[in-house]
Amino acid sequence: MIDISKQSVKIDCPECKRSISVTIKQVANDALVKCSCGQGIQLQDSNGTKKSIKDINKSFKDLENTFKKLGK
Ligand SMILES: [Zn+2]
Repeated sequence: MIDISKQSVKIDCPECKRSISVTIKQVANDALVKCSCGQGIQLQDSNGTKKSIKDINKSFKDLENTFKKLGK
């Protein structure tokens, strides 16, 4: 099954402007990630990411069920 929370997104380090790859799950969990320059970045679930993940995962599950039905 597809799990959207495992998808990664790119954020920019505020210090060195390098882009860092973080998973959507890390964003939803307000994780603290570290850039290779040593700068710690506090992720913030400001856009209700956690809820979106739930909604999207549910959509994928519905889609999966639809495909299963089609395969019969
Ligand atoms: Zn950096």
